[in-house]
Amino acid sequence: MDFRPSEEQEILRRTVREFAEAEMRPHVMEWDEAQGFSKDLLPKLASLGLMGIQFAEEYGGSAMSAVDYCICIEELARVDPGVALSVAAHNGLCTAHINMFGSDAQKETYLPRLVKGEVLGAWGLTEANAGSDAAAMRTTATRQGDCWVLNGAKAFITHGAIGGVMVVMAVSDRTKGNRGISAFVLEHGTPGMRAGKKENKLGMRASDTSEVVFQDCRLPGSQMLGEEGQGFINTLQVLDAGRIGIAALSVGLAQGAYEAARSYAKERHQFGQPIAAFQAIQWKLANAATEIEASRLLTYRAAYLKDLGRRMTKESAMAKLYSSETAVRVADDCVQIHGGYGFVKDYPAEKYFRDVKLLTIGEGTSEIQRLVIARQLLGS
Ligand SMILES: Cc1cc2nc3c(=O)[nH]c(=O)nc-3n(C[C@H](O)[C@H](O)[C@H](O)COP(=O)(O)OP(=O)(O)OC[C@H]3O[C@@H](n4cnc5c(N)ncnc54)[C@H](O)[C@@H]3O)c2cc1C
Repeated sequence: MDFRPSEEQEILRRTVREFAEAEMRPHVMEWDEAQGFSKDLLPKLASLGLMGIQFAEEYGGSAMSAVDYCICIEELARVDPGVALSVAAHNGLCTAHINMFGSDAQKETYLPRLVKGEVLGAWGLTEANAGSDAAAMRTTATRQGDCWVLNGAKAFITHGAIGGVMVVMAVSDRTKGNRGISAFVLEHGTPGMRAGKKENKLGMRASDTSEVVFQDCRLPGSQMLGEEGQGFINTLQVLDAGRIGIAALSVGLAQGAYEAARSYAKERHQFGQPIAAFQAIQWKLANAATEIEASRLLTYRAAYLKDLGRRMTKESAMAKLYSSETAVRVADDCVQIHGGYGFVKDYPAEKYFRDVKLLTIGEGTSEIQRLVIARQLLGS
C-alpha cells in the first residue's frame, strides 16, 4: 500500500491548480451570473488534456489514469465547481459511454472531436418523470426499416443546449423492461432534435443544464451505441465510473471552501483576536480538514479499483455519498465562519454554498447511493 502521489501526479496537480487560478478564478462570478462559461475556455482546457483525460492517445486523449482524473476534477472544482461539473459530465458521461460501448467507427467519428474540446458532450438519461427511477423513461426509439425514430424529452441535461454530441437512452422494446432500453449517439442539430428549456439554477450556473426534445428524430441504425436492449445496463457501468468524478468534484469543492474559511478565520478579528483563536471555529476547521481527507481517500480508492479494471459499484457509491455530504457540511461551515460576509457575493463562500447542493443530487441522489451500497452489502 502506498499513499504517496507520484511525481507526475504532483506536477499534474500543480499544473491544473495554476491553470484554474490564472484562467478561471478571475471569471468565476461573471460566468455564474452569465449562466455559462466563456467559449474560449474549451481550447485552453483541451490544451491541458482535460477534455479527454482518460481516453486513448490514438483518439487524441491524454490516457491518464482514473486517479489522475480525480486530481484534475478536484483542482478545477476547488476554483469553479460549475466548470468542473461540465468537464466531469463531458469526460465521464458522454465521452466515456462512447469509449466504453461504441464501435470502432463510432469512436473514430466522435472521440477525436470530443477529446480536443471542439464539441462538448451531453448525456441524456433523466426525464421529467423518470429521475432516480430512470428505467421508467418514456422516450421511445421505434424501428422503421434501417432507421430508429426517437420521440420524447430528456430533462436536466448538462450541455443539453450547447453540447455538440449527445448520447441518449430510449425505450426500444417496452415489453422487456430494463433490457428494452437502447442507447444512441447523435449530433446536435440532427433534424427532429432540439434544445428545450434552459434551467435557471441555484448553483453550478456556469454549467448549461437544459431540456432536450426529440420529435420524429430519425437516426440510421449505425447510430445505436452498444447492443440493442443493453443501453440501461451499460448506463449503470457508466454511472459507476461517473460517480468517482462527482466524488472528486466534491473533494475539490470542499477543499476550496475549507481554504476560504481558514484564510478568513485568520484575518477576521472579533473580541480583540482573530476568530481562528476561538475553539468553536477551530473545531469546524478540524472537522472539515479531517472529513475532506477521508473523502479523498475513499475517492482515490474507488479510482484505484477502476484503474485495476475491478468492479467498484459499492466503492464509487460510498465515495460519492460521503464526499458530497462532507462537501455540503464544509460549504455550510464556510458560510458560518464568514458570518454576514458569507451571505454576500463579495466572498466565495456563498457560491460554494449554492453549488454544493447539486452534488448530493446529480448522478444519483444520496438516498440512491445508500440503496446501491445496501444492495451490494446484502447481495439483493
Ligand atoms: C444541474 C443538474 C445536472 C444534471 N445533469 C444530468 C445529465 O447530464 N444527464 C442526465 O441524464 N441527468 C442529469 N441530471 C439529473 C439528475 O441525475 C437527477 O436530477 C437525479 O438523478 C434525481 O432525479 P430527480 O431529480 O427526478 O429526483 P427524484 O428521483 O424525483 O427524487 C426526489 C427525491 O426522492 C428520493 N427518492 C427517489 N427514489 C427513492 C427511493 N427508491 N428510495 C429513497 N428515496 C428515493 C430522492 O433521493 C430525492 O430525495 C442533472 C440534474 C441537475 C440538477
